[in-house]
Amino acid sequence: MNIILLGAPGAGKGTQATRIEEEFGLTHVSTGDIFRRHMRQETPIGKKARSYIKKGQLVPDEVTIELVRTTLDELGNNNFMLDGFPRNINQAEALGKTSNIDCVIDISVDFGVLMDRICGRRSCLECGYTTHISVCPDGTCPKCGSELVQRMDDKEETVKQRLEVYKNETAPLVEYYTRLGKLRTVNGMKSPDEVFEEIKKVLK
Ligand code: AMP
Repeated sequence: MNIILLGAPGAGKGTQATRIEEEFGLTHVSTGDIFRRHMRQETPIGKKARSYIKKGQLVPDEVTIELVRTTLDELGNNNFMLDGFPRNINQAEALGKTSNIDCVIDISVDFGVLMDRICGRRSCLECGYTTHISVCPDGTCPKCGSELVQRMDDKEETVKQRLEVYKNETAPLVEYYTRLGKLRTVNGMKSPDEVFEEIKKVLK
């Protein structure tokens, strides 16, 4: 089974992806995570991606599509869960030419809550755990005790830009995959546990 997780930044895709990976054995392919790894390693892709990511813009399609194509080829194009890709119609069409997608789960969230969710988001440098500053005001990871940090593109100005990009470029994918009969919507305003229950029903 191959699936796509759709949803605005802050909708909870990463949180649900971890659970889906465990429950259904799908390999989690997050383009954002791949780009951040390239940036840490200062690769040519990482250097190119950084200039776009820090402004809240999309990394150009030719870079992103190629990156996903090679990643999925390595996985044998099977049993994957895409998170953060596709992000526009062009990427979706490119994906459709090389991979079979069984289901697209749209995690739907009211736009008003996204700014707080994203600007308050903190991640652990050591174990990758992601939480909200209101839950861990001392900035320490509840899982491993390491320091929690804010992603450079989770600052307010950049988030505004990312939400604009989402509205203009990514949201049209909801209609695109509805027309293909693949879209299933879950209510992302519920608790992570409840959202996961909904997702399980869709996938089983
Ligand atoms: P994410 O972690 O999914 O929020 O992605 C962080 C940033 O990486 C995005 O704001 C984009 O700049 C870049 N990025 C991730 N996925 C894509 C994609 N499919 N197309 C273009 N840029 C992307």
